Amino acid sequence: MAIQILPARLANQIAAGEVVERPASVVKELVENSLDAGATRIEVDIEKGGAKLIRIRDNGGGIPRDELTLALSRHATSKVSSLADLEAILSLGFRGEALASISSVSRLVLSARTAEQEQGWQAVAEGRDMVVQLQPASHPVGTTVEVSDLFFNTPARRRFMRTEKTEFGHIDEVLRRIALSRFDVDLILRHNGKPVRQYRAGRLPSQQDKRLAAVCGPAFVASALKFDSEHHGLRLWGWLAPPSAARAQPDLQYTYVNGRMMRDKLLNHAVRQAYGERLPAEGHGAFVLYLELDAREVDVNVHPAKHEVRFHQARLVHDFIYQVLHQALAEAPVAAPASAAE
Ligand code: ADP
Ligand code: MG
Repeated sequence: MAIQILPARLANQIAAGEVVERPASVVKELVENSLDAGATRIEVDIEKGGAKLIRIRDNGGGIPRDELTLALSRHATSKVSSLADLEAILSLGFRGEALASISSVSRLVLSARTAEQEQGWQAVAEGRDMVVQLQPASHPVGTTVEVSDLFFNTPARRRFMRTEKTEFGHIDEVLRRIALSRFDVDLILRHNGKPVRQYRAGRLPSQQDKRLAAVCGPAFVASALKFDSEHHGLRLWGWLAPPSAARAQPDLQYTYVNGRMMRDKLLNHAVRQAYGERLPAEGHGAFVLYLELDAREVDVNVHPAKHEVRFHQARLVHDFIYQVLHQALAEAPVAAPASAAE
């Protein structure tokens, strides 16, 4: 075969392979877009585990009419315009790929209105060679993205989708992670028309605890050690379960770097080392931790789905985390029987 440039849709579908694994990855990308747009309220409606419909509605800044089509094309982003921007990313998105990828494997409707516009507009993309139709639509200030029939034109992907319950479970988990990353945003999740989660916004400690309990359970909140330390421009804060509250599964481990949820080897290693020998055999730590540092000290452009980061001063970051958590655990009461806790 002679060398040729791939048609736009096919190129986007190939890129979609990296970011759009399942309905939950669509939800993650779209909710992150809403957060980047400054939304304070985000509603997520799911039908049939996301296979039939994923609808995200936000009250963020919206998208101007003339940019709706552009927003759906690949490498189109309002968040990065230079290498300097890329090296100090503050937004969750920056690759300009999510909407293009998702619209290449679904039927997508993007509706929005900005505060300057009197009327909303809607762009309809049907996965067909990225042709987009624009039409007026009534819409409040903000953005709604409706993704129907995910993977309708990529049968191989569709076959990998699991049951409605499993896929919804993954979406629920994405919302938990986001709920813990932004206490100041209202998040609502519905499945097949029924409300499933409602995380209310609030910055007060009592409101934070309520959300933490909604995500991690009241037992975690009751036992968790709170920590908050700063050193050389690094800040680490959050909650850590004492060894006495170890879990049978590593199912309560949330780590954030500059507000971005992560599964990072270096962070996990530092935490495990801090727990050290204290954890019972087969026991797993439970924690919610937030690392904050200068955006230039960390490279988030390592993986298309942005699960991983690279720290410029990896050793320093690792040792700082270890120190803070080690200290928090050292101050923890030694595993006391429940009756003695009164
Ligand atoms: P990225 O987030 O990497 O920029 P996306 O494909 O996810 O790429 O989005 C492309 C662009 O569309 C964004 O840069 C932003 O300008 C716009 N956009 C997407 N979703 C929203 C939203 N919910 N509200 C406002 N603008 C949005
Ligand atoms: Mg994005």
